[in-house]
This record gives sequence, C-alpha cells and structure tokens, in this order.
Amino acid sequence: MAFKELYCVDCGESLGEYSEYYFHDEALNNVITFNQQSRAHKRHDIVIRI
Ligand SMILES: [Zn+2]
Repeated sequence: MAFKELYCVDCGESLGEYSEYYFHDEALNNVITFNQQSRAHKRHDIVIRI
C-alpha cells in the first residue's frame, strides 16, 4: 500500500506517514491545516511527500 509523508519544512521534520487508501489529498490538506493551527507548527510550511 502506498504512503504519503507529511513534512514540515520549517522544522525539518516528518509529521508522519499516511496511507493513500485512507487519506486522499483533501483529507491530507485537512491534516496540514490542523497542524498549521497547532502551537507546534503554527503557520509553518508543510508539504506532502510521496
Ligand atoms: Zn513545524
């Protein structure tokens, strides 16, 4: 099964891997938005790595 990784550019750290099967791009974008609203990654640049 294919996985996509969320990566925070500002922190230089992985935010975890997400199964493509369960997380379509829209769901991943929701996860990114959620992280960008958190204290740890406020307004950080978070990208999807395949
Ligand atoms: Zn960050």
